[in-house]
Amino acid sequence: MENCPFCKIIERRLPADIIYENDRILVFKDINPAAPVHFLIVPKQHIPTLSDCHEGHTAILGEMMAVVPRIADMQKIGVVGSTPETRTGGYRVIINAGPDGRQEVYHLHVHMIGGPRPWKDNK
Ligand code: 5GP
Ligand code: ZN
Repeated sequence: MENCPFCKIIERRLPADIIYENDRILVFKDINPAAPVHFLIVPKQHIPTLSDCHEGHTAILGEMMAVVPRIADMQKIGVVGSTPETRTGGYRVIINAGPDGRQEVYHLHVHMIGGPRPWKDNK
């Protein structure tokens, strides 16, 4: 799409801090991070919003989710430990859809947001 910023990033017509790529998806740092760690996972095909998706998008939606723990491990924010007492790390995964969902860029993307929470004393 000519005027889509995320298509431009995919096509290398706009710079971005890319952290992962394969034939179907691209992952890069959000230009205006809401937390110490803020990545965007985007499909290479231009899908404007989650509401445009149907069963035919199961594979790409699944891949966008399945890559999350892999990115988390790469970036050292994965959940470590197996009990509530010992677990550390972690992140939030968010998709905004439409005006009431606060979506600003109309190229489907998953926000991956994490990093230390000093105000919570990291607990
Ligand atoms: P939305 O509200 O659509 O879910 O979020 C769009 C996100 O894309 C925002 O967090 C915004 O900071 C980010 N963003 C918008 N334009 C660019 C850009 O050109 N480059 C990068 N890296 N992030 C962008
Ligand atoms: Zn696009």
